[in-house]
Amino acid sequence: MIKTRFAPSPTGKPHVGNIRTAIFNYLHTKSKDGKFILRIEDTDRERFIPGAVSYIEESLRWLGLAWDNEEKIHQSKRLKIYQKYADRLLEEGKAYKCFCSKERLTNLRQEQEKQKLPPGYDACCRKLTVGDIQKLEKEGKIPVVRFKVPENPKEVVWDDTIHGKVSIRTDIQEDFIIMKSDGYPTYHFANIIDDHLMEISTVIRGEEWIPSTPKHILLYMSFGWQPPKFAHMPLIVGRDGKKLGKRSGDTAIMDYRERGYLADTMLNFLALLGWNDGTTQEIFTREELIKKFDLHRVGKAPAVFDLDRLNWINGEKIRAMKVDDLIKEVASFNSNFMKNKDTDLFQRALTVMQTRMVTLKDFTDGSGFFFEDIKYDPRLLIFKKSTQDDSLGGLKNVLELLGQTKGIKSPKDADKIMKKAVASQSLSNGDVFWPVRVALSGEEKSPSPAELIWALGVEESVKRIEAAIKLLED
Ligand code: GLU
Repeated sequence: MIKTRFAPSPTGKPHVGNIRTAIFNYLHTKSKDGKFILRIEDTDRERFIPGAVSYIEESLRWLGLAWDNEEKIHQSKRLKIYQKYADRLLEEGKAYKCFCSKERLTNLRQEQEKQKLPPGYDACCRKLTVGDIQKLEKEGKIPVVRFKVPENPKEVVWDDTIHGKVSIRTDIQEDFIIMKSDGYPTYHFANIIDDHLMEISTVIRGEEWIPSTPKHILLYMSFGWQPPKFAHMPLIVGRDGKKLGKRSGDTAIMDYRERGYLADTMLNFLALLGWNDGTTQEIFTREELIKKFDLHRVGKAPAVFDLDRLNWINGEKIRAMKVDDLIKEVASFNSNFMKNKDTDLFQRALTVMQTRMVTLKDFTDGSGFFFEDIKYDPRLLIFKKSTQDDSLGGLKNVLELLGQTKGIKSPKDADKIMKKAVASQSLSNGDVFWPVRVALSGEEKSPSPAELIWALGVEESVKRIEAAIKLLED
């Protein structure tokens, strides 16, 4: 069975890169009817941030990345298991206790630096006898447990689903720590024990973990276990080709929610950071992603995080939505915004804005004029190539035609009125369209006057145009 895991360390709010890892793992299993596990790797107590687990869960929930394990898996609650396996390696002589003090290790590193030698532990405690160990323990010294890196193989090779054959020398690998003196396992140790016990079929994670993989494979070998498959995802870089930073978009995934991006956009956009379906298609529904995602089509080249592309996808997704669904999105984005607003007006305003929005915030920030009294400088009512009289003429004309109308069912109906107003008095477009737009929205840039009339309704439009005429005549 295909089984993957997302194994975040709770060290803060998950960033876009972390979430891309979750997405690739999720899509890989869902396309094959497999299982996707969430495992919290919280054995590094120094880096633990309270609340981080909730951030992780909240982010996954927002994106609809449901994990399949009912019980929460926290490595910090599995210490006995790791201890048991560490004891096994100790008994088999594949690991040893190390009592070296911090000072000794620091001196060692400094010495190695001075002599331009590769850094690493010098295996000093490998030589300790049972007697030595007993004595040190009696003195109250608490050891760490180090893995005895075997002399052979001198090279670890694996067939990475994304990178192909990877081979890394292990003869310069130091005897790394598997159990710390606080009784917690290190990442490497807990990670491989759990991947084995949880029968993870493919480990999908960022490329930055490639240097750790030989350690993992050596550990699997020492237990006589078959390692899982590995698939290391390409780096994410900014448009400048440099590692993704805060400026180029590397922030918490939930920041994107706050900025008005849809969950489906983030899923789509992040899935494309390293993967494509072999065509030029860029907009995918959730179902399509699940159906089409293929780990073998993930490239090695760094994936570019392009904010323009993100905006474009969001706009496309917004436009592809039914207005009712979009209303639900706006409501969950900002529930306050809908309060005390006329539902029909809300729906029409959103329909008009839908074609222009890039984010949900564009609507909540930029559509106040539909719902509130508007204020503007009366001079704004006069188009720069027009005069006060002609503008007044335009407004009055539209007002009169609105008074005669038998109802406006679409922006097209309103557009007919606008065009008629221009034609009937030999006015220019600027004499009519411009002042009506300002009269209805109070803004220089807004949806077209016809859309505004339709959205606001005849009554409100008449009221606003009358107010504008009064302002110009005063
Ligand atoms: N806990 C590691 C992290 O935070 C997991 C790496 C892995 O997937 O093996 O990224």
